[in-house]
Amino acid sequence: MQRYKNYVHGQPLSNQSGEVFEVINPATAEVIYQVEVADEFIQNAAIQSAKQGFAKWSAMSGMERQRVLNKAVQLLREHNDELAKIEVLDTGKPWQEASVVDVVTGADSIEFFAGLAPSIEGTQQDLAGDFYYTRKEPLGICAGIGAWNYPLQIACWKSAPALACGNAMIFKPSEETPLGAIKLAEIFTQAGLPDGVFNVVQGDANVGQWLTHNPEIAKVSFTGEVSTGKKVMQASASSLKSVTMELGGKSPLIIFDDADIEQAVSAAMLGNFYTQGEICTNATRVFVHQDVYPVFVKRLLERIENNIIAGDPMDPKVNFGALISKKHHQLVLDYIRSGLEEGASLLTGGEAIQPHSAPHGYFVAPTVFADCRDQMKIVREEIFGPVMCLLTFSDEQEVIERANNTDYGLAAGVFTQNIQTAHRVIHQLQAGICWINAYGASPAEMPVGGYKLSGIGRENGMETLQAYTQTKSVYVGLNPLESPF
Ligand code: NDP
Repeated sequence: MQRYKNYVHGQPLSNQSGEVFEVINPATAEVIYQVEVADEFIQNAAIQSAKQGFAKWSAMSGMERQRVLNKAVQLLREHNDELAKIEVLDTGKPWQEASVVDVVTGADSIEFFAGLAPSIEGTQQDLAGDFYYTRKEPLGICAGIGAWNYPLQIACWKSAPALACGNAMIFKPSEETPLGAIKLAEIFTQAGLPDGVFNVVQGDANVGQWLTHNPEIAKVSFTGEVSTGKKVMQASASSLKSVTMELGGKSPLIIFDDADIEQAVSAAMLGNFYTQGEICTNATRVFVHQDVYPVFVKRLLERIENNIIAGDPMDPKVNFGALISKKHHQLVLDYIRSGLEEGASLLTGGEAIQPHSAPHGYFVAPTVFADCRDQMKIVREEIFGPVMCLLTFSDEQEVIERANNTDYGLAAGVFTQNIQTAHRVIHQLQAGICWINAYGASPAEMPVGGYKLSGIGRENGMETLQAYTQTKSVYVGLNPLESPF
């Protein structure tokens, strides 16, 4: 069986404890490889290496950093299919998606920030003879901690701004999907990134906790659940690390009576069944205007019936994959049971499925509940699986209040042909990522992140540069120094 090591200082590094964990392909339930846990030896080595990497990388010009990062972008694109396959085997998501989204959007983010690297600059202001200038300096060693749904993309989205600004990063992927980050590290090395600028440490929450408690680390960028995010923030407070938090959601999609129904159905399906429902921005609360509700439901069910193909995720025809683990599979089924117990009407799905081509995988059928009420557990809590909750409304103000009645605030969508309605409603929704007559697109240029419990800070977009630099003000005296002493 293939055994992968941690990646430290430009190469794989063996641990001393001999401890390993196993990675399972969710579509087959089989162990596919082993990974060594980052023990104390690896942890110390990763820090020492990152210090050296940081010293070298931060001394390079923005142009030099841009060239290295762009080379990595080129290599990512050249290896798209090989990397996409790793993501399919690790996550259970369809090849159809991974081959056109995961590596592509990861590379885009690195390309975007590579382009900005030479433009990072300070300011200068005259002060009656004296003057001051500012420098935008990197923070030092940043930690990235990733979730399992978009492993390689998350590693790219976190390393891109960090590295563009001259920082080093120690990245810990989810224990369930550890390989993509190692491959990214190899590509960075091949592209000419100095050793130690991007190290990968493997393991579970213990390794994550070590990173968040370590005083040598200046910042933590975390993607995961709200409850873990709170722990990460608490631990980070011990040395006042800055944090970026990309957390969960329970996002509303509001479909008005003048919406293009075919398009709205597309959005609802994308926002609930893409990556078999394991996307943080999912539109899991679909509010449909009561006048178009019957036609919306009819088309939704027809399209689920005719267009969703579950099965071996490597089959290019398959567009609906397996959930990440047996545990998560059970959790999603438990939520479905709770929906039934609370009186929601199951329109389709609601059960585990064993597709012919992947009979042992952790599949749950695309599920739609009608007659949902705002108080139901399935409407309030993040399920992170293919479970859509339909709710009806008749009044604009009422639906805005109901959409906002959640502790989350990650994303929101509105479908209407009326330009005034669209913007008026979006401006009142408490969410950081909003779509009008669209859903799910997240280009590198667009900052993304949550309101309320869904997060702190943003990824992608120009403003993310601020989160990976600190301002040094330098006052320069040209006048004689006045002193009362
Ligand atoms: P978790 O919060 O369980 O884990 C996220 C990462 O944190 C993993 O690498 C995990 O390690 C690690 N970790 C766990 N405990 C700690 C700790 N105490 N200290 C430091 N690190 C720790 O999230 P999931 O992996 O289950 O991912 C699903 C969640 O991620 C969903 O809530 C989803 O909404 C959210 N998400 C948010 C996104 C966004 O951009 N807003 C994007 C994608 C997902 P390990 O798993 O190896 O134990």
